[in-house]
Amino acid sequence: MPIKDQTLLLPQPMVNTMLALAQQNPDIEICGLIGNNENNNRKEYYAIDNVAKNPACGFLMDAHQQIKAMKTMRDRQQTLYAIVHSHPTTSAIPSQRDIEENNYRDVYYIIISLNAKDVPEMRGYIPQADSMQAVDIALI
Ligand SMILES: [Zn+2]
Repeated sequence: MPIKDQTLLLPQPMVNTMLALAQQNPDIEICGLIGNNENNNRKEYYAIDNVAKNPACGFLMDAHQQIKAMKTMRDRQQTLYAIVHSHPTTSAIPSQRDIEENNYRDVYYIIISLNAKDVPEMRGYIPQADSMQAVDIALI
């Protein structure tokens, strides 16, 4: 379903989990999916293993885990809300590869950057045909 809301609403505890995972894995891009139940707006993060050949500068979600997460989302009446990955050494801006390899148009795209030393940075985007449009993130 098309994205209507231009602000990404994310629960603080879930964001803390995602940021902690990124910080605990400073040598690889972590990746995962967020499911959202539109009836009660409850969101949940599903961590997926990065099986890219070079996980330090790219991500490829483990297909089996991805299918399992999508099935769990369905069971919980959730739809895919966002795709998340981290950039260990670069800023929270989508790489050319991120833009080219993203297959989801109506799903938010979230990047966590560990580039800034102390505090991880998180940015949200809405995928466009050949780019990604930045959106605000609000913690709830
Ligand atoms: Zn990336």
